[in-house]
Amino acid sequence: MKLFVDSRMVSQGVYEVLRAFFREEFDIEKIEALNRDQGFFAAIWHDDESDELCVEIDRKERACLRLVVTDPDFESREYKLKQRQLMYQAARKLTGRELPWGILTGIRPTKIIAQERAKGRGDKEIAERLQSVFFVSQEKTDLVFLVDEIEKPILDAVQLDSYSLYVGIPFCPTRCSYCSFPSYARNKHEDWVAPYLEKLHEEVKETARLYQGWKLSSVYIGGGTPTALKADELRALIRVIRKAFSVQESVEFTVEAGRPDTLNEEMFDMLKAEGVTRISINPQTMKDETLVRIGRSHKSEEVVEVFRLAREKGFEEINMDLIVGLPGETPLDFKQTLKSIGELSPDQVTVHSLAVKRASSLGERDYRHKEEQVWEGIDQLLYGFAEEAGYVPYYLYRQKNIVGNMENVGFTRPNRVNLYNTLIMSDRQTIAACGVGAVSKFVYPDHIERVGNPKSIPTYLEGLHRRMEKKANCLTKFQEYDINTEKYIVGNEEDE
Ligand code: SF4
Repeated sequence: MKLFVDSRMVSQGVYEVLRAFFREEFDIEKIEALNRDQGFFAAIWHDDESDELCVEIDRKERACLRLVVTDPDFESREYKLKQRQLMYQAARKLTGRELPWGILTGIRPTKIIAQERAKGRGDKEIAERLQSVFFVSQEKTDLVFLVDEIEKPILDAVQLDSYSLYVGIPFCPTRCSYCSFPSYARNKHEDWVAPYLEKLHEEVKETARLYQGWKLSSVYIGGGTPTALKADELRALIRVIRKAFSVQESVEFTVEAGRPDTLNEEMFDMLKAEGVTRISINPQTMKDETLVRIGRSHKSEEVVEVFRLAREKGFEEINMDLIVGLPGETPLDFKQTLKSIGELSPDQVTVHSLAVKRASSLGERDYRHKEEQVWEGIDQLLYGFAEEAGYVPYYLYRQKNIVGNMENVGFTRPNRVNLYNTLIMSDRQTIAACGVGAVSKFVYPDHIERVGNPKSIPTYLEGLHRRMEKKANCLTKFQEYDINTEKYIVGNEEDE
């Protein structure tokens, strides 16, 4: 499909709206080349004579809309918003479809509520604006407010000098076909494990030195699959973390156990003895054929076995991750998975919609989702299950190109809200991150900076000193900030 754009316009938001409707790849061309014989095309331009913003979509039938905008500032947010709105309306007219999230293409919908409140708007007005300005459906508006209600007290309590710690283990038993994380099948890269862990211990200790005097809220060991390490290796890492950061027993400590084929009595005993408070056991699906298809080396019955074992060993907070729309699956398969998981009654269920990324083997094979219509209504099924089972949504985020135009959502028992997930999703707390591909986030009062570690192990093994300097510089900026005046004491580019 061709997308013709006026050269004065930035088309990213428009492009995302079109992608959400049509899931096509677009070749972008400047409007001078508008060619109505193209077949399927979309165009957006500003008519200088009539001072109208114009959109046109031609796909067998044609939808054209115009909106008068006098003295347009092409670079302004308002003008870009009008572009997205008009293109959305044209696509809706042409297809007869609504998108549940309307023109909201951002990752974290609850952020909009905070931004709108900061402008002095009340919740009623914000809800109306979500629907009238962003075309968000009533159901999704309710969902955003529900999540906001749970996360707001947690986020309001975040202090500028508090942080959470993330430590990444980039090894897994095998590589899943949809995976785009920096992760290596351990059996093919055994030689990297020892040097990686040695460097990681070093980074953890250095990071703890940087954050001296800061308040640690939560610890999360993720990946990858941390339990792809041997119990002794993981124990040693947990002890290094506990000692370096003086982690108190009351601090939430999660280990993403992830793959059931890495879990056994020895592993659970070790995690329990080392004070891990929360684990995640991630089946993704309970259909065995799919597990084979996506390259996982375990069966659904192992999920049940290790889950029960974890409960026997006294784990009181267990999350399970699921994916909607795995290759070959239908809504009925997902329904069966929900039923099986519901019987286990985990404390949290995190549901992702499949997003095909280029770095995954599905992406390399140019895998496409089934027709959108197949997954329509899947959210009613999901939220119906959650309500019946007594879960509430406590965090949500969106990605591009996901099944059913859905959202990724974390459900929890009301008394078991996970702090780390709430904090990381909100962009309201500084995250100290160690390990391959880990991204440290520095949340200043007026902006955020990120420093990413290398995504490959060989690169990670080099240059730790340089990376630590970068992170130390980021932390220095906090000292330059006066919490009372909410201004930087030493002028720098961030406070302009
Ligand atoms: S278990 Fe997770 S990190 Fe590991 S390969 Fe599968 S999706 Fe990737």
